[in-house]
Amino acid sequence: MFKMKVHWQIIIALVLGVVAGSLLQFLLGDGVAQSRWVLACEFLGKTVFIGLLKMIIVPLIFSSIVTGIAGLSGGAGFGRLGLKTLGYYFLSSMLAIVIGLGAVNVMKPGLVDGKPNPEVAKFIEKHSENFKKKGASVNEDATGLREDPHPLGIVGDLVERMIPTNVFKAASDNGAMLSLIFVSLLTAFGLRTIEGVGKEALVSAVGGLNKLMIKITGWIMRLAPIGVFGLMAATIAQTGPSFLLSMANYMLTVLIALGLHLFVALPLLLVFLGRVNPWRHFCAMRDALLTAFSTASSSATLPVTMRCLQDKAGVSKCTSSFVLPLGATVNMDGTALYECIAVLFVAQVMGASLDFAAQLSVVVLALLTSVGVAGVPSASLVAIVVIIQNVAEDQPWGGGAMAAVGAIYAVDRILDMCRTSVNIFSDSCGAVIVARSEGEKGVLAAKGAGGSLGGESEE
Ligand code: ASP
Repeated sequence: MFKMKVHWQIIIALVLGVVAGSLLQFLLGDGVAQSRWVLACEFLGKTVFIGLLKMIIVPLIFSSIVTGIAGLSGGAGFGRLGLKTLGYYFLSSMLAIVIGLGAVNVMKPGLVDGKPNPEVAKFIEKHSENFKKKGASVNEDATGLREDPHPLGIVGDLVERMIPTNVFKAASDNGAMLSLIFVSLLTAFGLRTIEGVGKEALVSAVGGLNKLMIKITGWIMRLAPIGVFGLMAATIAQTGPSFLLSMANYMLTVLIALGLHLFVALPLLLVFLGRVNPWRHFCAMRDALLTAFSTASSSATLPVTMRCLQDKAGVSKCTSSFVLPLGATVNMDGTALYECIAVLFVAQVMGASLDFAAQLSVVVLALLTSVGVAGVPSASLVAIVVIIQNVAEDQPWGGGAMAAVGAIYAVDRILDMCRTSVNIFSDSCGAVIVARSEGEKGVLAAKGAGGSLGGESEE
């Protein structure tokens, strides 16, 4: 087992987790004994594995951005990098949204024979109180979005979250990712403008910190199989099979749309914009994809994404440390696509038809809110609530829609795992495309690409 490459270990852990979770569900039902086992599994997955990954996010992002940008030559280079990155984020998110919109309009998962799906409607009615409560508890998470709109709109909200009132407080809060990126960028630019011994000492200290964090990421990845096992077993044990069946059409629509974006749209961007072999990129990113799938958190996966991109895909530290942390926070293709499908699904189940103008506002809101959503599990549910409130204002389906969001919440985990993988893969494609356009020759060259992380032999 220990000689095996990390991605194989993770895949085996995933399968074992599914088996263990099903056994827990089948043998122990919903009783006290089951919840104890679920708690134990969650402890392994959430407290230990995700906890360790989150532990290193702040020093890793800070040191990566500072060492990366401090090494960039010329301010114009940075402006170009920024524009290309934002252009890519916009393009890939729009592609994702169009795919989501197409899928939900063609497959109509909320309808059966042209009428609202009676199974789902019945289920929502039966569990409506419970779901309303669950929907509310989602808002308490650090999802990054607020339900009450900022008086200056989403831009005001972003700027407010970007500027910390206290640097140290921001540095101690994983939810304050935008502030951290902002402070790190300021530090990096500041360092480029000063001279002398102080500058050299600071740059080399931050460089040392970065090396240390990369080393620790490798150690944490050795625990990945155990963490993944725990996360999978807990998820499967908690998701009842009967409800999964009545939501099957919805889940299928989301999975098909995510699959199209992951396996068709993004590879096409890699080929046409990056001129690289997409298969090689998939191989290089496999540990990150599996980690995103198991943790359902782009932020927690960031250390692994960063390591895969630099070590296996050969993207320079400078490009990857600029594109990835920003991408993990603001570029969420899977999330944007999912929000579109979810909102239109809720409308279908509620028997409301959304005309072209209403669908267009769903598109715009999905694009904007996917920027604000934090890279944590189930964060999009708050965005979905925000979009419904905006689109369904004054419409009869607005009120009941919150219960329907509860139904979505019940099957969210498995879909979250898939959309998070799409989110991080899109970030990594952006980094590859930007790196190639900057003339980085070693990106996905045959030699470096496709290995695995974490093994001592490879370090
Ligand atoms: N879990 C997703 C992520 O971390 C966000 C979401 O769509 O809920 O990327």
